[in-house]
Amino acid sequence: MTARRIMTPAEIANWQVPPVPTGAPLAAARRRMEATGQWHKLQSMGRRFAMGCVALEVTQRCNLDCTLCYLSDHSEAVRDLPLPELFRRIDMIRDHYGPNTDVQVTGGDPTLRPRDELAAIVARIRDRGMRPALLTNGIRATPDLLAQLGQAGLVDVAFHVDMTQGRAGFATEAALNAIRLDYIARAAGLELAVMFNTTVFDGNFSQIPALAGFFVAQAAQVRLASFQLQAATGRGTAGASTTPITIESVSAQLRAGTGAPLRLAMPVGHGGCNRYAMTAVVNGAVHDLYDDDAVLAGLLDASAGTEFDRRRPWRAVAALAGALLARPGVVARTLPWATRKLWAMRRDLLAARLRVHKLSFFLHDFMDAGCLDCERIDACVFSVATAAGPVSMCLHNARRDAYILQPVATGRGWWDPLSGEVTAAKPSGGPVRLGPKTLKGRLKAARP
Ligand code: SF4
Repeated sequence: MTARRIMTPAEIANWQVPPVPTGAPLAAARRRMEATGQWHKLQSMGRRFAMGCVALEVTQRCNLDCTLCYLSDHSEAVRDLPLPELFRRIDMIRDHYGPNTDVQVTGGDPTLRPRDELAAIVARIRDRGMRPALLTNGIRATPDLLAQLGQAGLVDVAFHVDMTQGRAGFATEAALNAIRLDYIARAAGLELAVMFNTTVFDGNFSQIPALAGFFVAQAAQVRLASFQLQAATGRGTAGASTTPITIESVSAQLRAGTGAPLRLAMPVGHGGCNRYAMTAVVNGAVHDLYDDDAVLAGLLDASAGTEFDRRRPWRAVAALAGALLARPGVVARTLPWATRKLWAMRRDLLAARLRVHKLSFFLHDFMDAGCLDCERIDACVFSVATAAGPVSMCLHNARRDAYILQPVATGRGWWDPLSGEVTAAKPSGGPVRLGPKTLKGRLKAARP
């Protein structure tokens, strides 16, 4: 085991985007996992995916002011990137990671962009053979907009709802369930995989079991419950946690809330960054589907090249069955496990008339901006599309201004992020001016 090394401030400030890796994207991902000691039989990166997810920030503006916001103090002063530049970045993501890459259309809140632009961005991602997801606080995500984006090719909608957002009148996670139910209803009838993002912080840590129970109760509509752990980065005022909020402690809360002995043992990329568990919810009871490493490794291997349609669960099951047909040895090893599982579920299966819902849990432990572990950055599976190429999200957040305040070269000249104008000469940059109404996070808190 190598010693943990933290990036120095100079290393962070001088970091340069590496060139596009040579060879097939999947092979490049595998090399990264091997180089960082993360390659093993349960590793999906380099086996199924060349990258976990790439964030495409289509605006820096937001209509909320979260206490753990990862945006910059200066984000609200930045104009929305022109569509041609976003299209160029989408093509760049495809060049880096190939088809079937998950691209998260995010911000700020992406719904602040004109809806036709948003639809064009989603369509471009889909046209390039990748999977667009929308990450939004949901305030402007009307059923109409979701339907339009679904038509344009949207695959996932991830609603970020939690107490860090300070929504007036919703003081607890239980109270926020009313908003979550409203969002679920907005996506009803659309072919979209519905996900929820929750920031786990000092203020809601004790409420996570009840929230996990809520997601279980909504398993017919919710595909994934993702939990991001408190990190001191960006303009948010909350800073680092004072209670131990770790992958282990949050996993224990999820076990308490689901009533299932979830192992959450499957890493995605670096084991210190991400954990994943897939469950089957039957008659309200949660069954861990990732509880046997040998079975999981066999299934992972057999389905390595298979594309799963998250919007249509039965097609995903059929795709897995198709992949297994070619691997009778894996089927033979899986059958005893599947029989045990079905036996354990038998009463619930009968009570639910064989209705089974898949619900996944994801834990993402972002790093504090001042404590970036070199190995985790090198093994990062969640990057941001910058003008120069994809950058680890943790690293991006630690030096966000270096990316968002940088003029962008276009075919017609230089686009200035502060004025939105294109000029022949590269803008030299200047002081960032924010009006009192646009102050958020730390700057707002520091206002006399
Ligand atoms: S964004 Fe940070 S926490 Fe997430 S995978 Fe990358 S390095 Fe790890």
